[in-house]
Amino acid sequence: MRIIGNEHVQRALEVAIKGNHSILIIGNRRNTIEDKEPLSANVALVSPCPCGNHLDARSDARIECTCILEEVLTHRREFPHCDIKIELVRPRFDDLISAKLFKGISEPVNQLLRIAYDKLRLTVQDIVDVLAVAKTISVLDGSTEIKPQHVAEAIQYKSLRW
Ligand SMILES: [Zn+2]
Repeated sequence: MRIIGNEHVQRALEVAIKGNHSILIIGNRRNTIEDKEPLSANVALVSPCPCGNHLDARSDARIECTCILEEVLTHRREFPHCDIKIELVRPRFDDLISAKLFKGISEPVNQLLRIAYDKLRLTVQDIVDVLAVAKTISVLDGSTEIKPQHVAEAIQYKSLRW
């Protein structure tokens, strides 16, 4: 798991690792980047509620948590006890840029991804997925680079809401 932005979480992790303390990160997993590296035994990442959106909905009216309070409380009672508890929030798009998620892409593609993230409320992991699919579409088109139309098509595949 790779944490994007969320300097307060990175700091807490640093403290946890240094002192071998257990740490509970509460947040939507899709606001992080999944990678092959497993979480250390002392680190747990838990969703804030059954739907995952409870924290993000608090800071952004366009994001909806579909859980009722009772469900959230029941869910939270099952959290493991840890020395450190910290909340992970949805990073800003500029945090994604700082994390060098978009190497070698053009400014128009960058702008399109920003719109998808800020307006369509795609998650960090959605953006990573969109870029991977856009790359495949560009290869299919025989293009040497990812163009805005490739990203637009990939976004379309991601933005269906059931
Ligand atoms: Zn929820």
